[in-house]
Amino acid sequence: MAYKVTLIPGDGTGPELTEVTRAVVEATGVPIQWEIVEAGSDVVEKYGTPLPEQVLESIRKTQVALKGPITTPIGTGFRSVNVAMRHALGLYACVRPCKSYAGVKSRYRDINLVIVRENTEDLYAGVEFEAGSPHSKEIVAWSKGKIDENAAISIKPISAAATERIVRYAFDYAIRHGRKKVTAVTKANIMKFTDGLFLQAARKVAAQYEGRMPYEERLIDNMCMQLVQKPELYDVLVLPNLYGDIISDLCAGLVGGLGVAPGANIGDHGALFEATHGSAPKYKGMNKVNPTAMILSAKLMLEHLGEAEAARRLEAAVAKVIAAGKDVTYDLGGSAGTREMGAAIIRAMSPAAVTR
Ligand code: NAD
Repeated sequence: MAYKVTLIPGDGTGPELTEVTRAVVEATGVPIQWEIVEAGSDVVEKYGTPLPEQVLESIRKTQVALKGPITTPIGTGFRSVNVAMRHALGLYACVRPCKSYAGVKSRYRDINLVIVRENTEDLYAGVEFEAGSPHSKEIVAWSKGKIDENAAISIKPISAAATERIVRYAFDYAIRHGRKKVTAVTKANIMKFTDGLFLQAARKVAAQYEGRMPYEERLIDNMCMQLVQKPELYDVLVLPNLYGDIISDLCAGLVGGLGVAPGANIGDHGALFEATHGSAPKYKGMNKVNPTAMILSAKLMLEHLGEAEAARRLEAAVAKVIAAGKDVTYDLGGSAGTREMGAAIIRAMSPAAVTR
């Protein structure tokens, strides 16, 4: 029976990336019945919102979604559709594997890191107060001089329940994937209550895995330097939301950029797979951007569906095309378009390509 998967083309370069990714996934032979739903800046006029209710309804039903990037207007307008979706669907774990592929230009080789980012709390919880608003004035008064009277305010909630859940996810992931260790990353020396609580909760969970998976801790500033200097010392990193977001891009940089960095958002009742990169709107409709990150996100989706063999074949085909260096996009030093690179990956997956 075919798997039911929600497909969200997104906006900007999203539609062209999803079109190619869908073709590549179909070429694996895994039967998938796609339910296509629209979200993003292109549908605001039609639905009055960039996140129509039917998108969430579809994912609640299928419990698996593959999503193209979606633009978030900066500073004004709608809140991020991506953040809103993760909240609405309880997708509490953002998993971003960062792995080196031969042929991708990078200062580093043999990187194999996995970032596990808490997705629901922290400064991304959306509890913000505009400068001068009654709420921010109230908080300013209550802070007794610690906050400038004209400051805008964002609240950083961190709970033991959400932290234990994400750290447990990181440990289970590490064990399931045969990884070497888990590193919890915070700034607990400065934010004693929020990051301090994250650290306490992480230690509590780590104790339950003692003897099964090594555990260590780092401060976020030191972690940034260590990742640049000695990335080989690290394996699975678990972080609160904001640090996780930033470190994900840093690690994408270690493996050659956003074009090759996939991602998954996982909850207890659903999973959404998407590239780390955004909608790259300046390249919209140009058949130019690299489909690898989105295709590797689809590979994570196949693993999630239990199709490990198809996922392995898909990754091998991507690696082969990148290593050959001919049918690759501009960011990998080639001149192929999005569609041409996708077609090459499909060819590399065919049995004839294997025996050649
Ligand atoms: P971006 O990732 O869209 O693009 C930054 C630059 O990276 C691009 O100009 C391009 O040079 C390069 N790039 C990105 N993807 C690439 C690819 N597949 N192949 C080759 N090069 C690629 O980041 P941005 O410009 O900061 O964000 C654009 C929009 O996307 C913003 O509105 C942002 O909020 C949104 N965004 C969405 C998501 C998501 O949907 N999950 C994630 C991040 C950003």
